[in-house]
Amino acid sequence: MLNDPASLLRKHGLHVTAQRLAVLQAVSRRPHSTADDVAEDVRVEIGAISRQAVYDALGMLAEKGIIRRIQPAGSPARYEDRVGDNHHHLICRCCGKTVDVDCAVGDTPCLTAVADSGYQIDEAEVIFWGTCPECRSAAAGPAGE
Ligand SMILES: [Zn+2]
Ligand SMILES: [Zn+2]
Ligand SMILES: [Zn+2]
Repeated sequence: MLNDPASLLRKHGLHVTAQRLAVLQAVSRRPHSTADDVAEDVRVEIGAISRQAVYDALGMLAEKGIIRRIQPAGSPARYEDRVGDNHHHLICRCCGKTVDVDCAVGDTPCLTAVADSGYQIDEAEVIFWGTCPECRSAAAGPAGE
């Protein structure tokens, strides 16, 4: 959890607004939320906010590196406030539940390309896909419990 989200915004040169604070706190409370999850939480917190305002705030926070944006294939972007490390994600193919996986190496890029084609590589995007325990037991049926 963030203990002082307002000064975090200021430190990154952002004006502190109720909307940005609420968006940042929503992401912090529920890591790997989609923009829709965040919008829902923010509405509970501060009342009406447009979808666009939520997207704008998320985009701004991600651009400043205050939050991290994960874009899994075939699913909406997710946001988290765990930044500054090179952790990876494990995503359930069935329900989309996302959990953190520590990187064994810790720094980007943690994988070495066989050939870099002259590029300066700064990141390897690693996502592990699988089936979460809940979905596995659901698939096994009541007898499988
Ligand atoms: Zn699942
Ligand atoms: Zn994460
Ligand atoms: Zn890694």
